[in-house]
Amino acid sequence: MKKSYLIIGLLILIIGSIVFIGGIKMVEVADEAMSEYETLAGEIVRILSPEQEQHYQDAKEAKQTGQTLEVVGGVIGVVGIVVMVVGYQKVEEEPQQQQQIVVIQESVPEKSKYCRGCGREISGDYVVCPYCGFER
Ligand SMILES: [Zn+2]
Repeated sequence: MKKSYLIIGLLILIIGSIVFIGGIKMVEVADEAMSEYETLAGEIVRILSPEQEQHYQDAKEAKQTGQTLEVVGGVIGVVGIVVMVVGYQKVEEEPQQQQQIVVIQESVPEKSKYCRGCGREISGDYVVCPYCGFER
């Protein structure tokens, strides 16, 4: 059941990676669009055409969004890795806990029984009845 931590962590990591890669792609595309406007000719076009200036500003905004996505994706990815590490440790602990439970169960004394000699209730641990001395 605790293996679900690993699966959830992996899913979070995958989502983070997708967001991160999406951010990189967005920055790449925006950089390419911006580079056209960052030449001398591009700057003149922007000054002359408000529409072109708007395209440039949109690309600039898209680049910022892309950079934000990179950071957000990175953080999500780290969270995913943390969840996986926590999940891995829990999965490692699980068999030990089961062993401890088994040891505890073994050390618990047997349920009380009734003496076959006198019929009184005695602990299952007793070999000789404390009341009548009957040996089991
Ligand atoms: Zn007895």
